[in-house]
Amino acid sequence: MTQPRFDSALLINPPTGLYRRDDRCQSKVEDQTVNIIFPPIELASIAAVLRRGGARVKIGDYPAERKTWDDYVADLKAFRPAFVLVNVTTATLEKDVQAMAAAKDTLGAGVLTLAKGECLDALGAEVLEANPAVDFCTHGEIETVVERLRAGEALENLPGLVWRRPPENGSSAIVRNEGHPLVEDLESIPWPARDLLNNDLYCSPETGRPLTVVHGNRGCPAKCIFCPAGVMSGYRIRYRKPETIMAEIDECVTRFGIREFLFHGDTFTLNKQWLVELCDRIIASGHKVHWGCNSRVDTMDDERAAKMKAAGCWVVAFGVETGSQKIMDSIKKRQKVERALEAAEICRRNGLRVHAFFVIGTPLETRETLDETFRFAKRLDPDFFDFNIAYPLPGTELFEIVKREGLFEKEPSQAGYGSAAVRTHELSSADLTQWRRRALLAMYLRPKYIARTLIRAGSPRVTMNYVKAGLKRFKQLTAK
Ligand code: SF4
Repeated sequence: MTQPRFDSALLINPPTGLYRRDDRCQSKVEDQTVNIIFPPIELASIAAVLRRGGARVKIGDYPAERKTWDDYVADLKAFRPAFVLVNVTTATLEKDVQAMAAAKDTLGAGVLTLAKGECLDALGAEVLEANPAVDFCTHGEIETVVERLRAGEALENLPGLVWRRPPENGSSAIVRNEGHPLVEDLESIPWPARDLLNNDLYCSPETGRPLTVVHGNRGCPAKCIFCPAGVMSGYRIRYRKPETIMAEIDECVTRFGIREFLFHGDTFTLNKQWLVELCDRIIASGHKVHWGCNSRVDTMDDERAAKMKAAGCWVVAFGVETGSQKIMDSIKKRQKVERALEAAEICRRNGLRVHAFFVIGTPLETRETLDETFRFAKRLDPDFFDFNIAYPLPGTELFEIVKREGLFEKEPSQAGYGSAAVRTHELSSADLTQWRRRALLAMYLRPKYIARTLIRAGSPRVTMNYVKAGLKRFKQLTAK
C-alpha cells in the first residue's frame, strides 16, 4: 500500500443499532436505566485532530440520527471522502465492518477505511484477515495514530496500527505494529469538534436539554477483570489541566448553548486537589451548569462532595459491582463492599444523587451471591441503578477466563448487558438474564422508591420525563 495521505474524512457510528460506543462502555442504549444517547465525542476529537491537519471532515452518527444504510451511501456519494473511519463495538462488529465494504463499493478501492474500537486491540489482525474492505485498525489511543496516518508517515513506523503489507508472491501479510501509544500530554488533543455534531440530538433524559461529554482524565490503576479501561488507556492516570477543561466548558455554554455535562474520566474523583480546583473554577465562572461523573466509592468524602455540589454536580455514578465480598475479590476491584454505603451516605448528605452500577454473572457468581447483591442494593437504596450482566470484552482478563473455562453460551452479537453471553460455574446464561430482569423490576416497583423519585424530580417537566422513562423501562422488562 502506498503511504496514505488524505484531505477528506467521514467518521461514523454505522447504522447498526443504538449502542454506547465509547470503548469502555459498549451497552445497547435500551439496556440502561438511563436511556441516554451520548454524543460521539471520540469521533469529534478525531475530527478535530484531522481538521488541524487540514482535512475536511464530516461526522455521521446514523443510529442517533435514525438514519439508514441508504442515507450512509447517499452521504458517501455526496461527500466523496478519501478516508472513512468506523466506530465498532464487540456486539456489532460483523455488521459494522459492512460499512467499510459499502464505502469501497460506492467510492472504489482507493478510499481508505479504518476501524476503531476496544475489541480491535485483540481482534484487529483477525478483522483485517477476514475483511478485505478494512484497510486499517488501531489499538490503544487513536488520536496520534490517525494524525500521523493522515500526515503520510510510513505505516511500519506507526505504533498502534494494524495494516496490510502489499502482496509479495501473491499473498499479503497482516502486520500488527507494536506499541500502545498513550497520549502523554492530553492538552495536545484539540477540543472535540462539536460544531460537526447535531448537539440537539443528545439530551439529558432528565431535563430534555442538550448534554455533552467532557474528558477530564484518562487511565485507571485498578485492574478489574471485566473492564478495558487499563487496556485502552493504561494504568497510570493522566490529567487535563483544570483551566483548559473550564475553557472547554465555557465554549460549550457560550458557543453551543450546552449546560449539561458528563465528565468522562475512568476515575474522575481520585485526585482531590485536581477535582477541587476544577470545581472552584466552575463556581468562579458563574455558569449555571448541571453535571454528573463516574467515581469509585473509596474516593468520595465530604470535602469533595460539597465542592462538587456547589459546582453544579447532581449525580455521581459508582461501580458498586456486587454485594458479595467474595465476588468483589474475584473481579479484582480492590474495594470493600460496605464502603459503598458510606460513599452513598456522603453523597446524600451533600445533596448529590447516586447511580449504582452492579455487574453480575462473573464466573464465581451463584444464587447465594446474587441474593447478597440484591439485599445490598436495597440497603444501599441508590437513586438510579443498573444490574449489568458481565460482558466479556476481548482484551480483558474476564474474556480470557471465560474462554479458558468454556463459559461462553452465546455469540457476543446475541448478547449484551441485558442478555447474558456467558454462564457461571453454577448458573446458566438464561438464569442470569432472568435474574436481572426480576431484580430490576423488584427494585423499581418499590412504592417508596417511586414516591421518592417523583418527589425529588423537582419540576413538572422532569417529573413527566421520569414517568415516561419509567413506563418505557417497565415495558422493556416485562416484554422479554
Ligand atoms: S476502577 Fe472502574 S475504570 Fe478502573 S478498572 Fe475498575 S471498573 Fe474500570
